Amino acid sequence: MIVVLKPNVAQEKEERLIEWFKGMGLGVHISTGEYQTVLGLIGDTAKVDMEMIDSLDIVDSVKRVSETFKCCNRKFHPEDTVVSIGDVRVGGGNFCMIAGPCSVENEDQIISVAKSVKAAGANLLRGGAFKPRTSPYDFQGLKAEGLELLKIARKETGLPIVTEIMSIADLDLFSDIDVLQVGTRNMQNFDLLKELGQTGKPILLKRGLANTLKELLMSAEYIMSSGNENVILCERGIRTFSDYLRNTLDLSAIPMLHELSHLPIIVDPSHATGIARMVPPMAMAATAGGCDGLIIEVHNDPPHALCDGAQSLTPEEYAELAKKIKAIREVVA
Ligand code: PEP
Ligand code: MN
Repeated sequence: MIVVLKPNVAQEKEERLIEWFKGMGLGVHISTGEYQTVLGLIGDTAKVDMEMIDSLDIVDSVKRVSETFKCCNRKFHPEDTVVSIGDVRVGGGNFCMIAGPCSVENEDQIISVAKSVKAAGANLLRGGAFKPRTSPYDFQGLKAEGLELLKIARKETGLPIVTEIMSIADLDLFSDIDVLQVGTRNMQNFDLLKELGQTGKPILLKRGLANTLKELLMSAEYIMSSGNENVILCERGIRTFSDYLRNTLDLSAIPMLHELSHLPIIVDPSHATGIARMVPPMAMAATAGGCDGLIIEVHNDPPHALCDGAQSLTPEEYAELAKKIKAIREVVA
């Protein structure tokens, strides 16, 4: 249920109402907008007398929210959420450019890619240290050493770092990581999501490869209802009937998620297509479609990459693409 308060309500009246709801065993999500405050009531609202609430002098309107996702629902929080990562802002008109290799391979590689993507305009560095690979015989990532190399690259370039966490058991290793990525395979690892909800850290939540938008939002809800509102959603392609492409990039997820939720939504054209030459057109289409940022794989030597070389852009290709993205942003902004 949402309760929209009238503008300029006296603070103490607002607080009294909130306490009253809490006294009924309800959670209260408070969204203070420029003009109005919206109270989102979470829990068993069946016993709340809507007509009585509506009649209060400080209440503008009361509505039942039928969706099962509450904290990430735009009805609970009409304004866009802006996630802050150091000086970088994501959402609410702020566009992020996350770029870097699929996997951190060695110090020279990550530093050289970090420097080149920064020069091209990227504002966050990606790089996998814990890699979820389909085959147990494939490169599994440098793990803790990879995280250390990312920190060195951050020190060299100033770019905040984004990297995937696969297991709660590794959480302590991530205390100095700027953005924790939940990969497609872990989107419904509910124990991990709940744990990340207690960290307060920005979380990049990727859509599961066979998951609906509602399921993605319910996963965001796990993180948010555990206390962490810093969630960035990521469309990275889903399994359909695609044969020549790794996945199908669901671009329509962008406007639909913007309608349903206040969270930023970014797009990963690299994993969506699996083919480097398909990445620029899809990145441009996603930008035109209103996403809040892009996460793109870039490697200094794609043919020799230890993971996902076929979908990785060279630094030069990324620089070229970044210019086009900037131009499209100026048109759609
Ligand atoms: C990745 O970002 O390297 C990755 C493994 O992504 P996804 O979980 O979307 O496959
Ligand atoms: Mn990858």
